[in-house]
Amino acid sequence: MMNVNKAKAPDVVLARCPSYDPADCRAALEQVVEAFGGLDWVRPGMRIGIKANLVAGMKPDAAATTHPELLRALVEMVKARGAEPVIGDSPGGLYTAVYVNRIYHATGMDTVGAVLNSNFGTKEVELPEAKLAKTATVTEWLLHCDGIINFCKLKSHGMMGLSAAAKNLFGTIPGTMKPEYHFRYPNPEDFANMLVDLDEFWKPQLHLVDAVVAMEGNGPTAGDPKPVGLVLGGRNPHSIDLVCAKLIGLDPATVPTLCAAQARGLCADDPDALEISGAWRDFICPDFRTITERNGLQFQNMFHGKAGQLFSGFLQRYIAARPGVEKSACVGCRKCEQVCPAKAIRMAAGKPKIDRSACIRCFCCQEFCPKGAMQVRRPALARLLVHG
Ligand code: SF4
Ligand code: SF4
Repeated sequence: MMNVNKAKAPDVVLARCPSYDPADCRAALEQVVEAFGGLDWVRPGMRIGIKANLVAGMKPDAAATTHPELLRALVEMVKARGAEPVIGDSPGGLYTAVYVNRIYHATGMDTVGAVLNSNFGTKEVELPEAKLAKTATVTEWLLHCDGIINFCKLKSHGMMGLSAAAKNLFGTIPGTMKPEYHFRYPNPEDFANMLVDLDEFWKPQLHLVDAVVAMEGNGPTAGDPKPVGLVLGGRNPHSIDLVCAKLIGLDPATVPTLCAAQARGLCADDPDALEISGAWRDFICPDFRTITERNGLQFQNMFHGKAGQLFSGFLQRYIAARPGVEKSACVGCRKCEQVCPAKAIRMAAGKPKIDRSACIRCFCCQEFCPKGAMQVRRPALARLLVHG
């Protein structure tokens, strides 16, 4: 493992960044990176993998992907250290040059001055420190890098509640394999533990969050842009995510990756236990639209004893959010049917019909619906029990 200077760095750094103006991006990124030694671990000749969030071929203004202006600033800083930055990701869908090049172009990656990953190989690896996923099939390109910077986007997320640092490394699983992972780890707790295993495997030297304009509502692809005005950074993805959850008004107890990390002692329970550089409370967005109560995790330990646990399980199952089709927005493209790992969707009269008993609530259909027609819905019982 690369030697990174850890002296006196805070756990999380927040830098104000009011816009994607190049000067704002550069200043904010420099402030964050300086707090962690100014990329002093990057040496001439190194190949530095920058794992961006390129979830879909969407324009930067849609706020679904890491903004190219921030990536451009990071690329310049890596180059200034004499290293070669390489940007990549594996979104859902095909993991081929044709498919991913189209995404690079749509998201503006071909303008940032970095090498764009062109190695679409995959490799089965062992995860020696894993709690759950002892092996994984991963995208090969990052294995050939000398260091990794995880540069994610802050978004609400159908299955995980929050997409930020920890979730972003699911993009190291090849797109074609992702449905299998959802099927292998169908409940949010297991899926989250698999993500934490991946985070522990890759151990990026630095995690950065583009929260200049985040995504609220029907994230991670069909939500709405929401200005937050921040760039965040840190070495621990879960500490960053804890702060991100608080910023957008999400109860950390309902974010499965935070619960999984806390159970392993990888994350504090409260931001007050962290050393945070920046007045984070000033950036709390009280009106940020999250996908709340999506997984019912808040009920899992509410009742004790055997009967209590059964009742908690019942609540968790019937309160958990589920996908639902907004028929007026659906164009019948069948994308949801194609990506559903549980084969729970079939088309009827040109619209998707979901088999509730087969659905594993992975929200792949919601993530990949190009029209935002597949939405996260709260069952009536949830609306009754949890603040209306
Ligand atoms: S992916 Fe969206 S638009 Fe396409 S069929 Fe499914 S719900 Fe309709
Ligand atoms: S219907 Fe949607 S949420 Fe349910 S298993 Fe299929 S893709 Fe996942």
